[in-house]
Amino acid sequence: MTAVGRGAYLDFNGSTPVNARVRAAYLQALDDALGNASAAHADGLAARAAIDAARRSIARGLGADEGEIWFTSGGTESNNWAVLETAAAQPGAAHLVVSSIEHKSVLQSARRAQERGAAVTFLDPRSDGRVDLSDLERALRPNTRLVALMLANNETGILQPVAEAAALCRARSVRLLCDAVAAVGKVPVDVRALGCDFLSLSAHKLYAPKGVGVLYIRSGVSLPPLILGCGQQCGMRGGTENTAGVVALGLAFELMAQGAFDAASTARRCAWLWDAIREICPSASLNGSGARLPNTLSVAFPGHDAAALQAALAERAVSVSAGAAASNGVLSHVLSAMRVPEELARGTLRFSLGAGLEDAHLEQALRALADCLRRSPTRAPAPVAVP
Ligand code: PMP
Repeated sequence: MTAVGRGAYLDFNGSTPVNARVRAAYLQALDDALGNASAAHADGLAARAAIDAARRSIARGLGADEGEIWFTSGGTESNNWAVLETAAAQPGAAHLVVSSIEHKSVLQSARRAQERGAAVTFLDPRSDGRVDLSDLERALRPNTRLVALMLANNETGILQPVAEAAALCRARSVRLLCDAVAAVGKVPVDVRALGCDFLSLSAHKLYAPKGVGVLYIRSGVSLPPLILGCGQQCGMRGGTENTAGVVALGLAFELMAQGAFDAASTARRCAWLWDAIREICPSASLNGSGARLPNTLSVAFPGHDAAALQAALAERAVSVSAGAAASNGVLSHVLSAMRVPEELARGTLRFSLGAGLEDAHLEQALRALADCLRRSPTRAPAPVAVP
């Protein structure tokens, strides 16, 4: 892979660059698999064969069976499908337990289910960013149908106790949705080891193009379709398959299995970056603690404004994320749920690394960050409320 982005691209949790081999396979599939995969002519059959081969690679990578892999338009659709249709399939009022640090595609789906009559418990994590299993156990009710717990949080990188949560759920016949969008490619993801019923992932977080994803549905678990159409994917997900996107995702899984995305050197670079950040800003702190993704640093710069820092870094061709929509004044729902003090949440930047980054990119980012921190106006501490 060659250099990524416009300068120093440190937003791999936002989206990854497309791997060169994946890009080539995608372009080739546009020509080689041009037919509609539902058509019974040679070009349709070629498209079907390409999709089936990709499904095999993905199933192998996840430790799943081929029949458990359903293609969607991405992580958002996969999460909507699992949450909305599990809630809708329940006669009478269903109860859902959703961690409050889930991606908005899960949270908003749960809110929609709530509007339609479901009861929802939003479960805050501990201040270390991890959901507590005893809180989860207490939240379960006799009519709980679904628990949603992501494998890794995309903002903090903190890993969640999904396998343990799935065991709790399984004992009570409660379904568990694991959003693995942020985790795939960075930590091992095996559906049997996790014991989840549903698992979502997205190609554009794994060096493949945007607009394609997967919902794993454990064999024997029934889930009505979300998208209705002409019976594609056995009637489970209507719409002509995105053949080239699916082929690209299949190859990304093959490359991941071959170690092409070099998680070890990303982890080393991430550790180097954190040490270097602390040197230039000793008051910087990491949000959350304990096991986390090896590529993600959620760093609070006390007294600084993350949106202003992000913009100043962008001017220096350094791409980082300002956590949530700090620019419109809304605090990150993840940091709020962790009870990170507002002062720190407003000064939080997320650095997320990945394959293709070089030391020179990190050095460029660090020089720019030092410069921006020096120039960035620090905010006055919030006035103390007079009782
Ligand atoms: N879940 C998580 C944890 C994510 O980070 C994202 C992407 N930001 C999604 C779901 C949504 O995936 P997509 O962009 O493919 O819709």
